[in-house]
Amino acid sequence: EAVIRFDRARKEYPDGTVAVHELDLEVREHELLVLVGASGCGKSTTLRMVNRLVEATSGRVLVEGRDVATVDPVALRRRIGYVIQDVGLFPHRTVGQNVATVPELLGWDRARTRTRVGDLLELVGLAPATYAGRYPHQLSGGERQRVGVARALAADPPVLLMDEPFGAVDPSGRRRLQQEFWRIQRELGTTVMFVTHDVDEAVRLGDRVAVFRRGGHLEQVSDAVTLLAR
Ligand code: ADP
Ligand code: ADP
Repeated sequence: EAVIRFDRARKEYPDGTVAVHELDLEVREHELLVLVGASGCGKSTTLRMVNRLVEATSGRVLVEGRDVATVDPVALRRRIGYVIQDVGLFPHRTVGQNVATVPELLGWDRARTRTRVGDLLELVGLAPATYAGRYPHQLSGGERQRVGVARALAADPPVLLMDEPFGAVDPSGRRRLQQEFWRIQRELGTTVMFVTHDVDEAVRLGDRVAVFRRGGHLEQVSDAVTLLAR
């Protein structure tokens, strides 16, 4: 069953750049699909068409069976977590407050929010007693990315979009984050689209890997195991 479906989705920016060329692609429920390819081949644009940070020029993008062009963007984004490389944590909010952002917007009561924040910080390997009161500048790069993941998962979205989330983390920290994220994704069953230019990361994480090439063309979609065998 497809949770996300691109149906001849195309994006041409106003300056004439064709970032994504008539894309047909499905993301299945509970799967971790990785988009991989060199810089500039349309991965981020593809991702952003899902939460409508970018609108398709033609074709359609469906999330949970509904055309994103016809859904209220706020309602849409409540169902879609989003993690980017530099995470964009709110600098003047503590770790706990950052993770609590969406629950607070949704009007959860304090007790429920506190429980959820605690559980999520545990999930991403940051002991709440130590970390909830810290500010982003008091964290390492890897720790900030963990907070970003926790914040994106706070309201238990069925879909999570990740754009080079571990790109700025040093290699050993990155490896650990990959392993932990893989475990978290299995545990929660969240449907994930994950963008990276790192083939190694793609095959390590992905259930399937979609390979993009220049001009926004999808070259192939493979089971990660197949790619590894090359
Ligand atoms: P990737 O994520 O694979 O690096 P992007 O989706 O960011 O690729 O970009 C695809 C192409 O679209 C690139 O040629 C890029 O320069 C171009 N592009 C991205 N954003 C814009 C924009 N806002 N306006 C014009 N061109 C853009
Ligand atoms: P506020 O004044 O907004 O409550 P806090 O930084 O104390 O600011 O808390 C922000 C969020 O993090 C709240 O939802 C709070 O319940 C949660 N939180 C704070 N400390 C902890 C902790 N030790 N364990 C779990 N959740 C915590």
